[in-house]
Amino acid sequence: MLLDVSRLDVNYGRTRAVKQVSLSVREGEIVTVLGANGAGKTSLLRGLQGAVRPAGGKILFDGTDLTQAPPSARVRNGMMLVPEGRQIFVSMTVHENLLMGSYMRADADVSRDMEAIYDRFPNLAERRNMKASVLSGGEQQMLAIGRALVGRPRLIMLDEPSLGLSPLFVGKLFELILELNKSGISILLVEQNTTMALEVASRGYVLELGSAVLEDDAAALSNNTALTEAYLGGG
Ligand code: ATP
Repeated sequence: MLLDVSRLDVNYGRTRAVKQVSLSVREGEIVTVLGANGAGKTSLLRGLQGAVRPAGGKILFDGTDLTQAPPSARVRNGMMLVPEGRQIFVSMTVHENLLMGSYMRADADVSRDMEAIYDRFPNLAERRNMKASVLSGGEQQMLAIGRALVGRPRLIMLDEPSLGLSPLFVGKLFELILELNKSGISILLVEQNTTMALEVASRGYVLELGSAVLEDDAAALSNNTALTEAYLGGG
């Protein structure tokens, strides 16, 4: 098991945003987390990343207990979050944004990896010295993913990456997710686009009011009409 989360609690003061959620991601797997607005998906990822310290439960990453570790320790271990809304630095250049992803790396291979990322994303290569603010929404999403890749992740956690993207870019994004997965990166994907998410994932969890109410194979979740009608709005 690469990521093994048991009975995680994330609170904001008295608001219990994530309640006793257990989930796992095996090495090489794509796992999706679905649920309506406010179900606790972002809070779950923030708890996993360490931005919010979990109030309870356990997070094991490749056997290491990271529950109370700071975000930097997660990054060093290979757990990267691509946050909702990308959160890139718009006043910095594309290149500077990518370099931010390398801050936990001690080795000297960063420039080689940066070139590999530019090969993968020609749009970013062309604009490497421009401010990130000139990028389209889709390119900004690629930049946010590129920044995570510079840190050499073993697991990428994506928070609603398709939000606000044109259908063309959504297609490209999901192709990219599959490619990254084929290259050996495990993926935890939070999505509102349930149809696409269940197409690429092997398993999924459904959150409702902070609790994981359902866990199943992606195919079974797609065929669960009660579920798609109740929580997912058809994606
Ligand atoms: P969305 O799709 O809108 O991002 P979500 O499933 O990611 O929804 P969360 O953003 O995790 O849900 O929110 C879960 C609950 O926690 C909600 O009731 C929300 O109001 C509350 N919440 C989220 N962030 C905070 C915060 N910083 N302080 C207080 N309450 C919060």
